[in-house]
Amino acid sequence: MQIAFIGLGNMGAPMAANLAKAGHAVTGFDVAGTTAEGVAKARTAEDAVAGAEVVITMLPNGEILRDVVAGIVPHMTEGAVLLDCSTVDVASARAVAELAGAAGLGTLDAPVSGGTVGATNGTLTFMVGGDETAFETARPLFEIMGQKAVHCGASGNGQAAKICNNMILGVTMIATCEAFALADKLGLSREAMFDVVSTSSGYSWSMNAYCPAPGVGPQSPADNGYKPGFAAELMLKDLRLSQQAAEAAHAQTPMGRAATDLYRSFVEDEDGAGRDFSAMLPRFEKLNRG
Ligand code: NAD
Repeated sequence: MQIAFIGLGNMGAPMAANLAKAGHAVTGFDVAGTTAEGVAKARTAEDAVAGAEVVITMLPNGEILRDVVAGIVPHMTEGAVLLDCSTVDVASARAVAELAGAAGLGTLDAPVSGGTVGATNGTLTFMVGGDETAFETARPLFEIMGQKAVHCGASGNGQAAKICNNMILGVTMIATCEAFALADKLGLSREAMFDVVSTSSGYSWSMNAYCPAPGVGPQSPADNGYKPGFAAELMLKDLRLSQQAAEAAHAQTPMGRAATDLYRSFVEDEDGAGRDFSAMLPRFEKLNRG
């Protein structure tokens, strides 16, 4: 397949390289001039998309996505599919789908989970919104870049699934970390805390698969000085998107809001920037009840 890939950053570069390695003809563009193994470098985004059957974008936010899409749509081949894998606000995902749809293009919003390790190993999970025909066109590419693609319905639903999932993740990670810090102060060993909770009703992915306590449970960023993993600022980005969506949909999300406030202070006022999102545990460890 002829593929254009726009945004060759931490995630985009390895994803594009995997597509090239699988034998697809991939042309890439990034404003920073980065490239990826096996990927032909285009001079502009417009040059990259010319003749492409699928155009993949992997960009920082909705504003940049809207900008890039407005620039490339007039240069895309009719019937081609625009596949956005960035994490952006639901409104931007739906706006670009409308713009591209009006130009006769198929569109999918397909944010990912799995991080840079998943991008490199081709084991991402894609949460996909958009029409069935475009989904079928992109399916072989999802199979190369990931291990699972879930079709969640109409445009924007992929982003909706992603931010709801990550809102749960942010909330459960905070709950797990504050419970560990309380257990410490109550004199419970972390090992005992893990053994009980991971097999009891308090269990969750945050406890069982990504335990925030060093030396306890499976290997996780906690065992590596809280080097990300999934950086606290990326969690903050996703939580903010969840609150933006909740506001637009008039949904009450008190726990999501509390998690957003906590990650905001952690990243912006404390030492959370550049640390894994599970470093909430040492944060709670340091603090006492006011
Ligand atoms: P990144 O900052 O490493 O990459 C983004 C790339 O987009 C950069 O190389 C930048 O130069 C390029 N770019 C910016 N504006 C551009 C433009 N106008 N035209 C072309 N290229 C442009 O970010 P990343 O970690 O690769 O994340 C990309 C997306 O994936 C984000 O939306 C992020 O939220 C999401 N995501 C990241 C992770 C992760 O672990 N890093 C996990 C899941 C989802």
